[in-house]
Amino acid sequence: MAILSRVFSRRTLACAAGGTTVFVAGGYWYLNSGPSYPAPVMATRRPPPPWTPPSRSEMLNRLKASGTITKLAKGAQTSEGEEFDLLIIGGGATGAGCAVDAASRGLKVALVERDDFSAGTSSKSTKLVHGGVRYLQKAVMELDYDQYKLVREALHERRIFLQTAPYLSQMLPIMLPIYKYWQVPYYWAGCKMYDVLAGKENMETSYLMSKGKALETFPMLKSDGLVGALVYYDGQHNDSRTNMALIMSAVKHGATVANYCEVTQLHKDTNGNLNGAKVKDNLTGEEWDVRAKGIVNATGPFSDAMLSLDNPSHEAIVQPSSGVHITLPNYYSPRKMGLLDPATSDGRVIFFLPWQGNTIAGTTDTRANVSRDPVASEEDIRWLLEEVRRYLSPDIKVRRGDVLSAWSGLRPLVRDPNAEKTEGLVRNHMINVSESGLLTIAGGKWTTYRAMAEETIDKAVEVFGFQERVRNGCVTESLRLVGSDGWSRNMFIGLIQTYGLETDVAKHLSENYGDRAWTVCSLAQPTGKAWPLHGERLAPQYPFIDAEVRYAIRNEYAVSAIDVLARRTRLSFLNARAALDALPRVVEIMADELQWSYAERQRQIANTVRFLESMGLNAPSSITPAPIPRGFVEKASEAVKRAGSWALGYGRGADVTIESFGPGRSRFEAGEVAALRTAFGGKAKVSVPGGGDGDVAELKVRMDEVMDILRSVPGYPEISKKELDYVVAEAGMDGQKDVDLDEFIELSGSLKEVLFAPVIEKKARRKIPVEKSGGGV
Ligand SMILES: Cc1cc2nc3c(=O)[nH]c(=O)nc-3n(C[C@H](O)[C@H](O)[C@H](O)COP(=O)(O)OP(=O)(O)OC[C@H]3O[C@@H](n4cnc5c(N)ncnc54)[C@H](O)[C@@H]3O)c2cc1C
Repeated sequence: MAILSRVFSRRTLACAAGGTTVFVAGGYWYLNSGPSYPAPVMATRRPPPPWTPPSRSEMLNRLKASGTITKLAKGAQTSEGEEFDLLIIGGGATGAGCAVDAASRGLKVALVERDDFSAGTSSKSTKLVHGGVRYLQKAVMELDYDQYKLVREALHERRIFLQTAPYLSQMLPIMLPIYKYWQVPYYWAGCKMYDVLAGKENMETSYLMSKGKALETFPMLKSDGLVGALVYYDGQHNDSRTNMALIMSAVKHGATVANYCEVTQLHKDTNGNLNGAKVKDNLTGEEWDVRAKGIVNATGPFSDAMLSLDNPSHEAIVQPSSGVHITLPNYYSPRKMGLLDPATSDGRVIFFLPWQGNTIAGTTDTRANVSRDPVASEEDIRWLLEEVRRYLSPDIKVRRGDVLSAWSGLRPLVRDPNAEKTEGLVRNHMINVSESGLLTIAGGKWTTYRAMAEETIDKAVEVFGFQERVRNGCVTESLRLVGSDGWSRNMFIGLIQTYGLETDVAKHLSENYGDRAWTVCSLAQPTGKAWPLHGERLAPQYPFIDAEVRYAIRNEYAVSAIDVLARRTRLSFLNARAALDALPRVVEIMADELQWSYAERQRQIANTVRFLESMGLNAPSSITPAPIPRGFVEKASEAVKRAGSWALGYGRGADVTIESFGPGRSRFEAGEVAALRTAFGGKAKVSVPGGGDGDVAELKVRMDEVMDILRSVPGYPEISKKELDYVVAEAGMDGQKDVDLDEFIELSGSLKEVLFAPVIEKKARRKIPVEKSGGGV
């Protein structure tokens, strides 16, 4: 009795209750920790509302219409277009982020980029969305509060990044291999602090791994002397595609954007305040003036050149440092685990990460000069290989020949001109307004592009007096980028079932275009094979397909083969040789879309080969573009082929032969989408939706014509009004007067599912006796 009363004393009961509460609360917290994936805000089984952005020439016209400075200087009020509120110079992460922020506040925004969007540093990063564990180490070791604040801000932005562009970014576990016992508590404490700093915005908690587990997870790791490993989490993205999503989001909010347009002069009014710029179209050499109330210099490593146009005697602010990356085959790393070596032979940090199916290894921070086309030197490539060799198992031969691609990017480290002379480079980014009003934003990192843009546009509102012009404050913390609304993690299954794509292709499209993947697929040509039905690969071992080239031209302003191979798809970054092999096909499709002459095709091939050589390609074979039609018959048949599909604006030169119909693994058979397009095009009329900025004419057919059109397509002869009404209601198109091509194709697909759904033969179903069905209840 005495023992029992001692066991169940108030103290032990209180301890047990306390322990249980802590255990339950801890368990609840753990189960609810980890990343939260935002739910799609639209139905994901059907394509999102179609949207065709204004073409590049429409954008140029808008820029030109903003008027000329000379007219204004004389006080004339006759200029055709209204001036822009903001002209943003530079189409990398910083400029594109500013354009999204300003346009979504309701400002009239123009953005010009002298090369292609993200052609600068923003396509050449390590692709991490990170707080920066090594900065945290610095913050702790040097008791540096500013450094600590930077990590906190970046961790906050990391969470927003993953929420606003959920299809483009995902979390990645990164391993820190440990070779000394004393490092175990050191690394463990560092990673735990990283988790704690992220707070409820943390992705997954870091954890310690035994040597055996580390080798099981990362079998390529050198086992000699390995003690164990620590795993922490950060984010990863596809940088140039995120950049493109930002550009297109800005366009969706009414911004005017143009690639290959360079600012060559800045204009000032009689008071010395900036009021516009001279812009040169680098594709044609044409020059004109653009008027704007405020100008943002977002030219990254080239900020000083722009500041010189404003004030030739300004003090230099950029001190570039270069970072080199190499791409290695996928067998160098596990598919889902990165590696960080924080202490290489010369003290630099090296990242070794799986990315888009291959492995990238990279390092940063070598002082460099500003150059438009930085190239990875042989010395840098060999240094990286040497470091990789140091921590890989000796049975893996690290060969120079395994380097599939190599590139170099310039980090724009900046010095604040207003800061004390003794002060070093600014830690993060810097915003500075010159006397004439040039607003420069430079430095920072990809991860914090949004916060930098918010700060910049806040400043622009203040210095250019936009308080009355803005519709709202900054909304980018919750503004989801183009492609996010109708995307879900399982969207790729819908793509496979609808278009008959290979799984890796469907996943790639879903993860790089989000809900826009539906539009990409609608441009895919039939393969003519039993499987896959759509999705002709540009290179056999990579999931990039023909339709992406057409999409890049029509929807993402690609104008050269390099744009497609380097920044819309990432083939040249993944494998320069594979990009070379894909080049003839890419040029062929682009020539078809953009009416390139034979000479232009040759020029594109020569330029691209040169570019690929700068990415490490050795000894390219000579490539000759496909001949263009010369004789009358060839020209005529080419013209007829084009005319048919031009009328539609879809699938130029599409093969409209219909191979076979009937139920299969996907909703559409090979050639069927092309047949539906042709039938649609025969009846479609131009319709312009009601009046908003950026509204574009679309081709539509009347809803009451859909049944007749479908009856003219082989495979759809027996549709009844009842069946059509049913699928229209299912698709939420009740009451709609007309449908566009995407909706028409969706209705056709749904009808097929209804028409060809296997009918359960009631008579034929044999009853299974209870004893044979397991006994029943
Ligand atoms: C090697 C390396 C790895 C990195 N890794 C990461 C990472 O993993 N995570 C991360 O968060 N950050 C990373 N960063 C940092 C990040 O990539 C950069 O901070 C960011 O991309 C800079 O973007 P930006 O727009 O300022 O510059 P840029 O991308 O260089 O854009 C500036 C643009 O301005 C254009 N321009 C210049 N002059 C003119 C003109 N006269 N008219 C019109 N346009 C003009 C240029 O063509 C260029 O496209 C890395 C940086 C480097 C160098």
